[in-house]
Amino acid sequence: MAAALAAMVFAFSLSGCAKAATSEGGQASAAKPVVYTTFFPVTDLTSRIVGDKMEVRTIIKGNQEPHDFELQTSDRAEISKADLIVYNGAGMEGFVADLRDAVGDDSRFLDLSEGLTLLQSKDAAGTDHATVNPHTWLSIKNAQAELESICNKVSAMDPANAAYYRANLESARSEFKALDERFERELASVPADKRYFVTSHAAFNYLADDYGLKQVAVTGISPEDEPSANQLATIADFVEQHGIGTIFFEGTATPKVAETLARTTGAKTSTLYTMERLTEDEAALGYLGLMERNLANLMESFGE
Ligand SMILES: [Zn+2]
Repeated sequence: MAAALAAMVFAFSLSGCAKAATSEGGQASAAKPVVYTTFFPVTDLTSRIVGDKMEVRTIIKGNQEPHDFELQTSDRAEISKADLIVYNGAGMEGFVADLRDAVGDDSRFLDLSEGLTLLQSKDAAGTDHATVNPHTWLSIKNAQAELESICNKVSAMDPANAAYYRANLESARSEFKALDERFERELASVPADKRYFVTSHAAFNYLADDYGLKQVAVTGISPEDEPSANQLATIADFVEQHGIGTIFFEGTATPKVAETLARTTGAKTSTLYTMERLTEDEAALGYLGLMERNLANLMESFGE
């Protein structure tokens, strides 16, 4: 009896994810569809929609820098077998193009930046060369559109659970909308000449755009793009001229130049989460919890 049961479990685990994805609803299958997500915000949004109906895994772990992440060959084989690979897009995950080529099945990919209005950003070298700013997820308005894309995609993959995914979308959307409205309400009280914030890298363009704020970034689109001594001096002047009392850091990934700037201008430091690298405790707050902290920290800086 026990042996028969063990054999059955073994058979189910062999059936794999590809089969589970194509099986009709109602058919018993122990294996849930496997969804790979690239990094924290993508994982958080995807998990909110799929709930317990799919197994969500993360490619870039909390302590790894997503901007320059390269996929190990050993991981690639496993990820290629996924039923769905969800990624931020907008140039954030450089490794996805090769992965898509290797998998050769576009239907198993979901680019969350599709359909969003993308913002251009000048590179850190200060040339006229503009590139797409990839930090789309730091707009709560974008995040709501992304939740809907995820819902549409997984509902098409798994129509038997479409109502479940739709219900998850509605409940997530009402929470995201409430926080977006809170950002609007609280930031509306900040006078126009106080709407500047200085942050270690250019991650908050979309958030600034949503609420009419002005971001001044110490480094470029990637934390690795360091400014020249001249640019740093210009930012320091700006901080002094506008009486900016806070330089925002992003925890472990904060570049040395941002620390130097805070020290030379006498500004205090605070945290704005980009959600690119997070400790376990930070990740446990979830997308909304981290954005709530971002709002509180911004409001505190504007109040000075
Ligand atoms: Zn970034």
